[in-house]
Amino acid sequence: MSDTPSYGFDTLQIHAGAQPDPATGARQTPIYQTTAYVFRDADHAAALFNLQEVGFIYSRLTNPTVAVLQERIATLEGGVGAVCCSSGHAAQIMALFPLMAPGRNVVASTRLYGGTLTQFTQTIKRFGWSAKLVDFDDLDAVKAAIDDDTRAIFCESIANPGGYVTDLDAIGAIAQGAGLPMIVDNTSATPYLCRPFEHGATLVVHSTTKYLTGNGTVTGGVVVDSGNFDWSASDKFPSLSQPEPAYHGLKFHETFGPLAFTFHGIAVGLRDLGMTMNPQGAHYTLMGIETLSLRMARHVENAKKVAAWLEADPRIEKVTYAGLPSSPYYERGKKICPKGAGGLFTFGVKGGYDACVKLVNALEIFSHVANLGDTRSLIIHSASTTHRQLTPEQQEAAGAGPSMVRVSIGIEDADDLIADLDQALAKATA
Ligand SMILES: *Cc1c(COP(=O)(O)O)cnc(C)c1O
Repeated sequence: MSDTPSYGFDTLQIHAGAQPDPATGARQTPIYQTTAYVFRDADHAAALFNLQEVGFIYSRLTNPTVAVLQERIATLEGGVGAVCCSSGHAAQIMALFPLMAPGRNVVASTRLYGGTLTQFTQTIKRFGWSAKLVDFDDLDAVKAAIDDDTRAIFCESIANPGGYVTDLDAIGAIAQGAGLPMIVDNTSATPYLCRPFEHGATLVVHSTTKYLTGNGTVTGGVVVDSGNFDWSASDKFPSLSQPEPAYHGLKFHETFGPLAFTFHGIAVGLRDLGMTMNPQGAHYTLMGIETLSLRMARHVENAKKVAAWLEADPRIEKVTYAGLPSSPYYERGKKICPKGAGGLFTFGVKGGYDACVKLVNALEIFSHVANLGDTRSLIIHSASTTHRQLTPEQQEAAGAGPSMVRVSIGIEDADDLIADLDQALAKATA
C-alpha cells in the first residue's frame, strides 16, 4: 500500500508496508522462513553488497516479513524508517551504537524501565559509554548534565512505575539547542497514545514484546528514525557523517540522506551486532499490531475505571496513574498522550510488604509476572521480585517501595478485574 498520509491510524495499522504477496497473491503477509536469497547474477550480488541497490542478501540483515513490520511501525510513528531487533534492550543498544564511542555519554531520565537502568548504569560501561541520570522534571539539571561528550538524550514517554509523563516538548527543545538527538522509549504509550516525533524526538525505540505484539508471545524491539536530524551539522556523529571503512569509504548521511540512520542500523548494526528479529517473531507482532488501536483504547478505558475504584477504596494508600485527575501528571498527560495515559500504574496497599504478597497470591484473574502490555491483566510486587536487590531507599526512589504493586491492566471486563481486586484485597488486609 502506498503511504498516503490521509489514511487514518486504524487503516495504517493493518495495511502499511504490506501488499498481497507478489509470488502467490497471499493476502496475509507470509512468513519468509529463509536465511538467504538467490542473486539474479554476480553483478546484482556486487551491487547489493556495495549498498548500491537495496534488496535481500541474508536474514541477519533483512527479511521480507521483518521488512513489512519495519515499515508498519515507521508509518505508525510518522518516521522514515525502522530497524527491528531481537528485543527492546537490543533496540536500545542499536539506537545508541551509531552515536556513541568510548568516553561518550547519554543523558537519561532517572525514571526508566528497571532493565534499562541496569543496562545504562552497568553494562554499557563495558563499551566505554556512560549514562548520566537526572530528574527530567528538572530542566536546568538536564541542561547542566549535557557536556562535550554527550551524544544523546534518552527518556520514556510514559515511564513505569509511577505514571510519570515526560514533558517531551521541553526536553526536545533542550536536545535541539544542544545539537543532540532525543531518543524516546515509547513502549508504554505506543504510537496510538503518543507520537514522540511530533514533540521533538529524533529516534523512537520500542520493546515490541509489550503492547505492539500485545499478547505476551514474542520478544522484539525496534528503532524508528524521524529522518529529521542533521548528522553532518557537527563533528559529533562520525559513524554517520564520515567515511565508513567497511564500505569503501561510503558516507551514510551524504549517501542516504534522511535514511542514513536506518541504513547504518542494517548495514553496520545488524551486520556486526547481529541482534536480528526473526521472521516468525515479526509475524506474531504483525498479527498483534493490526488491533493496536482497539486494544489501547480498551486498556486505557479499563485502567481509568480500575484506578478510580482503587483510589476510592479505604484499603489503598495511593494510586499513581496519570489518567487520574489527582495525578500531578494529569495535565501534561493530556498534552503528550491525548488519547489516554496507558494501562500501567502502581498502587500502595495499607499493610505494607505482607499485604502486597498476600494480594498477589490471592488474585485469580491477574497473573503475577514480570511483563506488561498483555491482553491479560498482570501484577507484580516489585520489592519482592524485580527490585529485591535494591536498598529500601533505592526501592522508594524507584517508586517500588515495599507497599507498592504495579499493574498492567488488560482488556478483560473491567468489572471482573475490580471484583478480583476486591476479593484479593479482602484476604490481603484481613
Ligand atoms: C520491557 C521494556 C524494555 C525492554 O524490552 P525487552 O523486549 O524485554 O528487551 C524496555 N523499555 C520498556 C519501557 C519496557 O517496558
